[in-house]
Amino acid sequence: MENNKSMRNWLEAFQLSHPLVIAGPCSAETEEQVLAVARELKDSDVSIFRAGIWKPRTRPGGFEGVGEIGLKWLQKAKAETGLLLAVEVANAQHVKLALEHDIDVLWIGARTTVNPFAVQEIADALKNTDKIVLLKNPVNPDLSLWLGGLERLYNAGIKKLGVIHRGFSTYEKTKYRNIPEWQLAIELQSRFPDLPLICDPSHISGRRDMILEVSQQALDLNYDGLMIETHCNPDKAWSDAAQQVTPDALKQIFIDLKIRKATD
Ligand code: PEP
Ligand code: MN
Repeated sequence: MENNKSMRNWLEAFQLSHPLVIAGPCSAETEEQVLAVARELKDSDVSIFRAGIWKPRTRPGGFEGVGEIGLKWLQKAKAETGLLLAVEVANAQHVKLALEHDIDVLWIGARTTVNPFAVQEIADALKNTDKIVLLKNPVNPDLSLWLGGLERLYNAGIKKLGVIHRGFSTYEKTKYRNIPEWQLAIELQSRFPDLPLICDPSHISGRRDMILEVSQQALDLNYDGLMIETHCNPDKAWSDAAQQVTPDALKQIFIDLKIRKATD
């Protein structure tokens, strides 16, 4: 995989503020909920609105996402707020639908990155795309699997690539939902210094009161961006309730974060 500045171009071409901020609910639940969050995030530090449409639940019985109709709600949110849109894709059919609905950023979730067949299927469906594609780390702390996923996407001619660090599952009891193992992301970045690196403090923390602390750690390590789950009524969220923050809390996080400027 070639390692040159072109991998960063998409980040700079957007002239996005530092850091890049992706925010929005874990899951799209209703049209009203999607529009309410998006309206609150308009004119904030947020550049990209995220929402899960297809939810890969570890165990059956939970909310598995609203499916295709949610893409229409997202399009409305974009038309109203100008925010770019990001959704998770886990197979070729998701990619097809996301592309048909003008989604700007497609991300591959941790439970998909572990499966080379699934990543390859997505890479093939996205061949030579101009869209931004972000690869989350696999659920388990396996750097090769993360690198392998990246190589599959790069080999498919996808140039606007980035990675999302969302921590790793562990059987140990820790304060994190998914332990960061920062050294894995740092190792990945040392191999590809020009690959944008985004931290997902929501899935690392699992609790909203730790989002600021984990975000600050990521920025201190020079991460390029943050993806933070945001919901107008987090306690009533249909998935990941404990870790979502309100739009006001998100704004406060960006007031409290010490953000290094390029000139510092
Ligand atoms: C999500 O972003 O809501 C999600 C399912 O994340 P992950 O793949 O990191 O578990
Ligand atoms: Mn989530």
